[in-house]
Amino acid sequence: MKLSLVVPCYNEEKNVSLFYEAAKSDFSGAGFDYEIVFVNDGSHDGTFKELQKLMDGDIPVKIVNFSRNFGKESAMYAGLRESEGDYVTIIDADLQQRPAIALDMVRMLDSEPEYDCIAAFQDKRKEGKVLSFFKNSFYKLINKFADTEFVQGASDFRTFRRPMVEAILSMDEYFRFSKGLFSWVGFNTKFIPYEVQERATGTSKWSFRKLFKYALDGIFAFTTAPLRIATILGLVTSFFSILYLIIVVIQKLAFGIAVAGYATIVVLILLLGGIQLCCIGIIGEYIARTYIQTKGRPIYIAKDVLKNGKYDK
Ligand code: UDP
Ligand code: MG
Repeated sequence: MKLSLVVPCYNEEKNVSLFYEAAKSDFSGAGFDYEIVFVNDGSHDGTFKELQKLMDGDIPVKIVNFSRNFGKESAMYAGLRESEGDYVTIIDADLQQRPAIALDMVRMLDSEPEYDCIAAFQDKRKEGKVLSFFKNSFYKLINKFADTEFVQGASDFRTFRRPMVEAILSMDEYFRFSKGLFSWVGFNTKFIPYEVQERATGTSKWSFRKLFKYALDGIFAFTTAPLRIATILGLVTSFFSILYLIIVVIQKLAFGIAVAGYATIVVLILLLGGIQLCCIGIIGEYIARTYIQTKGRPIYIAKDVLKNGKYDK
């Protein structure tokens, strides 16, 4: 098998057959064999039924059917695990990313052996200014603190060679932030610009709240800088506290001012309380992640893995 298309699907009942047809027509003259690995990420609509219909077509199709919604990160992991191709492409089900580009990626890997991965990044973002601002700030922040490089606008739409897939699979951490993992494993990645299409049908599964949580996951997974910041904050506060202590003692001894400064005390208690709670929160984020990781729970649970008869060819 030359290529596996890994397609995470969450409530995409109207899109999966459109995707299948698009892939079929774009790959019709490709001249190599490929499979499609659909991961049904606990959809609440008829996605699974629609996927089962695709089992009758003439392309080798696999369906990994999750027991509930585990999120796109888990779906990608499952898809990579079930893929059999020498090359593996991760691509969305909503046709925002054209299968034709995946074919270009394969051709590039064929002709440029020095690369292990071709990754697409969004040339022009089709989103609001506020969201763009937050995304840009996130990339600036994480690149400043993390050792791993995060390429701005890079998507999960990528084609890997098998050794890189195996490297990614060897990292079975529970809190997955793929953009970081893809870069952490190393290998040579070539970034190509692409234009995001409109969603074929349905709406995006990402709300601002989900994106914010995802951004925090990325930061906590790839840098311990927040802990360092907490330490520095503590040191700076302690330094100024000692200075202020000296001032207060001198005031008392030299000028006899003892009970003044009610406002100062209230402000200081509130400020220090706030800083302490923040720092405990930061430590808590890491401890919580450590706690959940130590339970060693699986990244996903699949109810069934279906494979059609086209594999025997
Ligand atoms: N997806 C998934 N699990 C989720 C959310 C999304 O498998 O919990 C899939 C979704 O079906 C789609 C891809 O991930 O194929 C990208 O999702 P979406 O289109 O909502 O994101 P966007 O394109 O807006 O970034
Ligand atoms: Mg989409």
